[in-house]
Amino acid sequence: MKDPVTGKDIIIIGAGIGGLSTGILLLLLGYRVTIVEKNRKPGGLMRSYLRKGVDCPVGVHYVGALGPSEPLGKMFHVLGISVEDLFYPMGSSGLVDRYRFDDFVFDMPLGMDAYERNLRKACPAEGPALDILMKSLREISGQMMDPSFFLRQSDPFQNMDFLRPMGELLDDLRASARLRALLAVPCQLIGVDLDDCPVIFHHMAVAGYLFSSWRLKEGGGKMADAFAQRFTALGGKLILNRAVRKINLSSGKVTGISLGDGEKLLADAVVAAIHPKTMLSMLDPGALRSSLRERILTLEETKGVIAVQAGIDAAAHRELDYNIYRLRHDERGGITNGIFYQIRKGNASGTNLLSIIARSFYRDWSLWENTVSGKRGADYEDKKLTIARDLLKKSEEVFGPLKNAKILDVFTPLTLRDYVNCPEGSCYGVLRSVRQLLKIASLNKLSIKGLYMAGQNSVAPGVMGCILGSFNAVRQLAGTPRLYGEISRLL
Ligand SMILES: Cc1cc2nc3c(=O)[nH]c(=O)nc-3n(C[C@H](O)[C@H](O)[C@H](O)COP(=O)(O)OP(=O)(O)OC[C@H]3O[C@@H](n4cnc5c(N)ncnc54)[C@H](O)[C@@H]3O)c2cc1C
Repeated sequence: MKDPVTGKDIIIIGAGIGGLSTGILLLLLGYRVTIVEKNRKPGGLMRSYLRKGVDCPVGVHYVGALGPSEPLGKMFHVLGISVEDLFYPMGSSGLVDRYRFDDFVFDMPLGMDAYERNLRKACPAEGPALDILMKSLREISGQMMDPSFFLRQSDPFQNMDFLRPMGELLDDLRASARLRALLAVPCQLIGVDLDDCPVIFHHMAVAGYLFSSWRLKEGGGKMADAFAQRFTALGGKLILNRAVRKINLSSGKVTGISLGDGEKLLADAVVAAIHPKTMLSMLDPGALRSSLRERILTLEETKGVIAVQAGIDAAAHRELDYNIYRLRHDERGGITNGIFYQIRKGNASGTNLLSIIARSFYRDWSLWENTVSGKRGADYEDKKLTIARDLLKKSEEVFGPLKNAKILDVFTPLTLRDYVNCPEGSCYGVLRSVRQLLKIASLNKLSIKGLYMAGQNSVAPGVMGCILGSFNAVRQLAGTPRLYGEISRLL
């Protein structure tokens, strides 16, 4: 680990959940912090947008573990962000997700014991495999409950058994295709296939939602504003609508950044809460040794998605307090097709929101690769709408005929690419597969003094992963004793 930064002035690039939560933590530790964000509003993927008075989510559909004694709830408490103001608990009907496969339905409940019961009922012949799986899941969820999980980067990340691929573990346990398919769904939540998903990330995703599951009361815009307000209330400076073009160095040490218009801002350290390839484009070619540069450039991305936001008649289609996944699997249990559905409250004039998310490859949009949002032309709009109509039609297999269904908006990998500068419109940043773990680890050991990474590419994606990444970045920047000393008092 590098020596802690001695100066006080820190610049963070990017006001997504990673940048804002890192900023809040640094302010709590007494640093002077400026965040620079290229968009007009803060929030990045967490921010939602309005269409016909309906709040449409981008990157926060549901979040786990926000209860007061649970890991993310504790992290929100440290950050000074009220869970009750922003979220409400899911699961009033006993489930959080319904997985609908062609040949069976599985309900993801709340609570570890209920989950174990449902798994044993769905896979009655797999007692011994489930004994082993549930033991390791309980072990990780127990460790997640201890504050050392986010304050000291505790054991689960050091235990080699938890870094092996889920696929290999399930091969050893001779798991059936059905069990594999069930366990493959949480891996999709971080964009990795089961075969290559590290056990720890699978278990963290499952345990998080089993602790408790939550939806936003008023949407991602309010969540983004709450984080930004907390940051500025603590004395942080938020510069919006200005992109960082360059990270400036002198003798291998960060001196600050240059903005698009050439203005320079000085800093003792810079935290890049953006995609690592975007960060690399801000450094002189010789700034990192060529092997590390090559490692970052060749990182594989998580896949993109196409998302359809559709208005539906609120009286005919009430809000569903669980999500539905329509899934297909192959004979080994690999997910070959998965579509996510969520029905939420819409506007006051009788419209609810049906959000549909399906996989979409960046290469499928290559014709428009060199265009920018809003200026891609009629062919692109046609293709988008054709896919959206088809997805809407398919959703009737799940919900029955939809009354007054109207497409409000559609976004593609290109939309996300341009909105937050993520290469290939990757949903969850770099692919957190076992194959890439070593490559990704080097992101947290950049050889440049005063340069750190945060956001979904640093530890893990998702709200929990990003905020864990923020604690990790601050631990590196300030040193473990300082982070632990200052923050543990708040718990
Ligand atoms: C479709 C979708 C659904 C999801 N659903 C969920 C979910 O239900 N639950 C969950 O927990 N997670 C979900 N996620 C994941 C979650 O949204 C992300 O992991 C998280 O929001 C990423 O935050 P971040 O801060 O790392 O990055 P971002 O939100 O991408 O923030 C990076 C910020 O940096 C800014 N930036 C980029 N380049 C520059 C520059 N040159 N200068 C200045 N600023 C710059 C960007 O504009 C952006 O605001 C979902 C993601 C997607 C895409």
